[in-house]
Amino acid sequence: MPARILDGLKIRDEIFAELKDEIAGLTAQRVRPGLAAVLVGENPASQLYVKSKIAACEQLGMAHWLHTPPATINTDSLLQLIRDLNRDNNVDGILVQLPLPTQVDSKRILEAVDPAKDVDGFHPVNLGRLVSNRPGLVACTPAGCMEILRRNKVPIEGASAVVLGRSDIVGKPMALLLLHANATVTTCHSKSRDLPEIIRGADILVAAIGRAGFVQADWLKASAAVIDVGTNKVTDRALAESLLVNFPQRLDKFLAKGSVLLGDVHPDAVNTAAALTPVPGGVGPMTITMLMSNTVKAARLRRLSGKSQPAASVAH
Ligand code: NAP
Repeated sequence: MPARILDGLKIRDEIFAELKDEIAGLTAQRVRPGLAAVLVGENPASQLYVKSKIAACEQLGMAHWLHTPPATINTDSLLQLIRDLNRDNNVDGILVQLPLPTQVDSKRILEAVDPAKDVDGFHPVNLGRLVSNRPGLVACTPAGCMEILRRNKVPIEGASAVVLGRSDIVGKPMALLLLHANATVTTCHSKSRDLPEIIRGADILVAAIGRAGFVQADWLKASAAVIDVGTNKVTDRALAESLLVNFPQRLDKFLAKGSVLLGDVHPDAVNTAAALTPVPGGVGPMTITMLMSNTVKAARLRRLSGKSQPAASVAH
């Protein structure tokens, strides 16, 4: 039987509807949540990401500002911009689009963002809160993966969860969120041995390594729920042909377009797992959704509680 599809677009629409209600409630209290995006230089991929984030703000009726310093900016000038945004009471969320140019000290920039406005969840204060399971702003992609699991009622407590990848923005926070939800978590990386065996024991697999079709369909338990974070643009014809051999329509599209977006899990997994997120249309839409959700949360906590830090009563 084909796997149940864990549809990220459907969950995005559900969360957007909830956020619209919350934003209306906040606006009635004279708080209009607002996101400031900082886009340095003219990297086309970054421009596209930021455009989608601004479009989401518009869709939800949130305030937004776009700052576009030149690619030649230095660390001090960018730090000054961040300090100005920290001081601006109308700005609830600060998004610094990565990567930054090499002459800029990215860590210093991210650490300069007020933790109460750190809607990407990258600041060490928010990471520390996540480690110790205290409320804070959580990185958007792993937070989105948790929403997919919860809203599809995938049992997490007591489940064996395998996280493939240990990056600071996906793998590590993902493993912590699953741990706090009482899963038994194994984190794997490029030096892990016997990956197929480890993955065969997974009730939940989160794959975030950036290798198209790496996880083979026969490594998965028949009852497994698979969250495929990988977003790999494949342009190599031989690779596309081998991964899409059972999906002639997708292969035709690849041949017409010259590229196809594939996850870290082999497309054949749709016939071996119990549930899985499609690529595209699974985790991808959830990242921007959680950025919006974090911005609304940051507005509520900072402006309505009158404190500069997220309040202790609100869960992740
Ligand atoms: P990253 O920083 O490059 O980290 C990749 C991780 O995968 C590392 O921990 C690495 O191990 C591990 N890895 C690489 N090759 C491996 C292998 N053959 N076996 C086992 N582990 C391996 O990547 P990332 O930023 O976490 O992103 C991962 C993927 O998610 C990418 O495809 C990215 O495009 C995608 N992504 C999607 C979204 C979205 O919104 N859908 C958001 C963020 C990321 P080591 O630590 O040992 O090097």
